[in-house]
Amino acid sequence: MPKPIILAVDDDTSVLEAVVQDLRRHYGQQYRILRAASGKAALDTAEQLKERGEQVALFLSDQRMPGMTGVELLENVIPLYPDAKRALLTAYADTEAAIRAINSAKIHYYLNKPWDPPEEKLYPVLDDLLEAWLQGYKPSFDGLRVIGTRWSPQDHATRDFLGRNHVQYQWLNLEQHPEATKLLEEHKLDAKNLPVVCFGNGDVLVQPSQLELAQKIGLRTQAEQQFYDLVVIGAGPAGLAAGVYGASEGLRTLIVEPEAPGGQAGSSSRIENYLGFPQGLSGEELAKRATLQANRLGAEFLTQRATCVRSENNYHIITMADGNEVSCHVCLVATGVSYCKLDVSGADRFTGAGMYYGASMSEAISCANEEVYIVGGANSAGQAAMHFSNYAASVRMLVRGSGLEKSMSKYLIDQIASRPNITVETQTEIVGFDGDGHLECITLKTPKGEEKRSTSSVFIFIGAAPKTDWLPSTVLTDARGFILAGPDLPSDLRAKLKIDRDPYLLESSVPGIFVAGDVRHGSVKRCASAVGEGSIAVQFVHQYLANLSR
Ligand SMILES: Cc1cc2nc3c(=O)[nH]c(=O)nc-3n(C[C@H](O)[C@H](O)[C@H](O)COP(=O)(O)OP(=O)(O)OC[C@H]3O[C@@H](n4cnc5c(N)ncnc54)[C@H](O)[C@@H]3O)c2cc1C
Repeated sequence: MPKPIILAVDDDTSVLEAVVQDLRRHYGQQYRILRAASGKAALDTAEQLKERGEQVALFLSDQRMPGMTGVELLENVIPLYPDAKRALLTAYADTEAAIRAINSAKIHYYLNKPWDPPEEKLYPVLDDLLEAWLQGYKPSFDGLRVIGTRWSPQDHATRDFLGRNHVQYQWLNLEQHPEATKLLEEHKLDAKNLPVVCFGNGDVLVQPSQLELAQKIGLRTQAEQQFYDLVVIGAGPAGLAAGVYGASEGLRTLIVEPEAPGGQAGSSSRIENYLGFPQGLSGEELAKRATLQANRLGAEFLTQRATCVRSENNYHIITMADGNEVSCHVCLVATGVSYCKLDVSGADRFTGAGMYYGASMSEAISCANEEVYIVGGANSAGQAAMHFSNYAASVRMLVRGSGLEKSMSKYLIDQIASRPNITVETQTEIVGFDGDGHLECITLKTPKGEEKRSTSSVFIFIGAAPKTDWLPSTVLTDARGFILAGPDLPSDLRAKLKIDRDPYLLESSVPGIFVAGDVRHGSVKRCASAVGEGSIAVQFVHQYLANLSR
């Protein structure tokens, strides 16, 4: 397998030589360092590499070059290598152009010349970019194949789980790939057994449960220890932040997550407002970075769903979906929210078979050349519309209100307005679903009356609710199920619980059970606030533990 490539570009040959030398010294073991002396030559090289099926990890280009500037080059390579990292190495005078290019050419970073010493001014930035790139890089496709049909909810769930856990697979749609039939016959299986997952080593899973799949792809499904200082339930931004702070501050930390780290944020195609990422970043990348960080700092991840918590003598015992238990001093509930179900007849019948809750990335490619419907008018729906507009022939957003202004950020409204294949239909909602075996038609209620439309792809983003019914009734919630904490708890709680202190800021009505992120009553539903709550919750965990040992 050839090494992935770093392509350095500069029209000044002595500068190019110097940068290539520095790159070879630090990255030569893992990457092939190529050079080009102009933007045009670099673009030609990139096209040839693409034809040969080689991987480019990073384009590092000078800005001011005759013929084609660095910004133009980096813009031009996006269609060839959309996942490659793109950085400018500019003279100070070009800094302004570089900053503008963060938006226009979606460059990931700009560095200033001279870059001496590279250990301080070059490598840290490139290390970070390459580490992020490596997260999505699957060097050797290990031959994992999913055989299924597009309209099977279980097939969809299998592909979604693999995709969200960054496991590369080839999807063989039985209706389109003769190879799928052949493979099934080889294993003496047929369409009744779908979905079937075939592994590179010859192993086969027939209609696997999420837990079976998790085990098979190497995720931990049994906790390493029986006791932890801190067990975090949910690995969305709040849980991941708590994991990072808990583990880095010496707490034995377990993070429990049944699906994939990232939570709702992991399904966001582009988060534009997260501090420190001027060009925005995908939720997938944020999740990958945070998971890597939590792992590196020593947090343990467990692929399980927590189904029950009980508290005994200052300990909390958490039961997992497979019946196993772990105990801890502190339990932090960071289970976020999930999409509300659409209360329309037929909706249940087509869930996973043409109608999906949230932005199902695994379906985006299947929607190529189709008309896709997005239901909802908030930011999540807007991001999904932008994302699907890259694949689908057209995207129609169905919004119940009279416009997007009240529910969506302005930057997204502007982006949507600039996409010719997105149409926003206001005062419109779905009132019926129909189809034979999968979704084929929807009925809309519009200001002009009812209308039928043909479609096989509807994605629902209509608000979200917490799932806290698995918690004991001693964990107080508001009427909608959001957990009450700190100052939101009833004022007589202290007397009732006979404790000598007020609950900490993010502590629930059960001492030692904390809450962070979207699942908390009154929380701001944003990534940064979830991360903030997850981080500060750990401070209160320390105070709680110190109080316990007094
Ligand atoms: C499509 C989309 C786009 C968005 N875009 C933006 C944006 O651009 N900017 C922004 O600031 N915010 C954005 N948001 C909102 C942001 O993602 C959320 O506010 C944030 O993810 C909340 O984090 P959280 O950790 O509290 O919960 P979540 O992200 O909801 O994570 C909760 C996790 O808990 C897990 N879980 C649930 N129940 C259990 C259980 N019983 N046991 C174990 N684990 C469990 C879930 O599987 C999930 O992974 C977006 C949301 C969506 C859906």
